[in-house]
Amino acid sequence: MRGVMEKCTYCVQRLKDAKIRQKRGQKQDVLLSGKTSPEVPVSASTLRIPVDSVKVACQEACPADAISFGNLKDEQSATVVRARELARSYELLHYIGTIPRTLYMARVKNPNAKMPDAKFVGTATIHMA
Ligand code: SF4
Repeated sequence: MRGVMEKCTYCVQRLKDAKIRQKRGQKQDVLLSGKTSPEVPVSASTLRIPVDSVKVACQEACPADAISFGNLKDEQSATVVRARELARSYELLHYIGTIPRTLYMARVKNPNAKMPDAKFVGTATIHMA
């Protein structure tokens, strides 16, 4: 009745499912080749989930494409890698040494040059009073 607050798990069930499908595909390849498992090399790269093959639920549900999901360490995951390079991208509490997995985009502010914060338009900044 009160509801339960849950933390984002980055849709771990979808990621697990994709990993299992990838593993299953590898097993299938071994069976079809007629070799035994030890004869077929398995590496981390062959078990890696193909880029952009998994969508988290909120990404799938958003009609405005406001959420991108991918592997920041994978250069082929262009959307998230490009998003990180933007001046508008920022991480919460980065200045105290956290290494979060979520990046946010700063809101686009009024680009009126006469506004006091005009020099910060389009960049993620920390304003000190
Ligand atoms: S739907 Fe979105 S908020 Fe919910 S667990 Fe998945 S990624 Fe996190």
